[in-house]
Amino acid sequence: MEKLKPYHTFGLDVSADGISFLEKTEDCISFLRHRNPKLLLGCGSDVLFTENFSGQIGIMRTAGVDICEDQECYHVRASAGEIWHKLVASLTYQGIAGLENLALIPGTCGAAPVQNIGAYGREFSDFCEYVEAVDASGSVVRFAPAECAFGYRFSRFKGEWRDRLVITAIGLRLPKRWKPVLDYGPLRSLQTVSDLKPVDLLEHIVEIRRARIPDPAVLGNAGSFFQNPVVDEPCCQRLREEFPDVPAFSLGNGSFKVPAGWLIDRAGLKGFRYHNAGVYDKQALILVNYGGAEPADLMELARHVAGCVYDRFGVRLHPEVRIFGKTGEISLD
Ligand code: NAP
Repeated sequence: MEKLKPYHTFGLDVSADGISFLEKTEDCISFLRHRNPKLLLGCGSDVLFTENFSGQIGIMRTAGVDICEDQECYHVRASAGEIWHKLVASLTYQGIAGLENLALIPGTCGAAPVQNIGAYGREFSDFCEYVEAVDASGSVVRFAPAECAFGYRFSRFKGEWRDRLVITAIGLRLPKRWKPVLDYGPLRSLQTVSDLKPVDLLEHIVEIRRARIPDPAVLGNAGSFFQNPVVDEPCCQRLREEFPDVPAFSLGNGSFKVPAGWLIDRAGLKGFRYHNAGVYDKQALILVNYGGAEPADLMELARHVAGCVYDRFGVRLHPEVRIFGKTGEISLD
């Protein structure tokens, strides 16, 4: 058995039968040919292990960033093992702008398309030129954005293609003409800043996120634990009548996104603690390991949170974090 503690951000004492580090495309192909169960990790920032994993863990470590340009755009190719935030920061400081709103989202570049990471009104798919992946036969496939079926924190890599491919690289297209997106509440103060530079926006976002998201090296966590629930119009109407200050954002198709963090907070759970696990007191959407938490503590806590939110608001929360038991992915229920 090999210890998984250094390879996932919840910092739990769990192990796996084996760990392999994927440094080149051939390693990715060999990994795909491994018998099940197997699980590919980037930074391990989106997983909760409930017990020791009876299978092989692959850790994406491919490296390399290439940049070229034409008159209108920069074209950036990043290997899947590159750390997303490092790429965002390095490009912004080099004067290649566009990705600032996506600063400090944890994880690797290869993980970015899987759930179409997004923040403050921007998402990965706004910049995606292609996603490259290999399958178990060794074929390298390049997918155009339309083939990836990107949605809100969703893509085919998370859906029907899950576990069949390993993403090896991403291609980004970043227009040279910079148009900052400053519509989200915490960014509006920048709308009146004259001569705003991409670096100013990057640093503003890093500051906001650092204040709200605990550093996993200090406090184990996996970022947002739950997805923001999407409710239909009658449900949204009912919530608005009962809780007039509920923030609900129209998705334009008759459904509404309700911030899960608000629901958890208003269910009175911000700062709630269960054994050595808890609801983070600065951001209710994050569950934390205060040190020495058992996987069962986090599972119990997550069930309690989802149960309280349902009892109070009649809205079901679903984990954003992927939960793994001994032989594979499991649900929270
Ligand atoms: P927040 O600013 O407290 O906002 C809570 C939620 O309300 C967000 O999820 C956001 O939806 C929504 N929201 C706020 N203003 C909005 C507007 N003007 N129009 C539409 N929706 C609006 O969120 P937070 O938890 O601190 O997170 C900050 C940002 O980081 C959010 O955009 C969040 O989605 C993002 N984030 C992304 C990931 C990921 O990609 N895996 C993980 C953690 C956080 P949206 O989710 O659509 O932005």
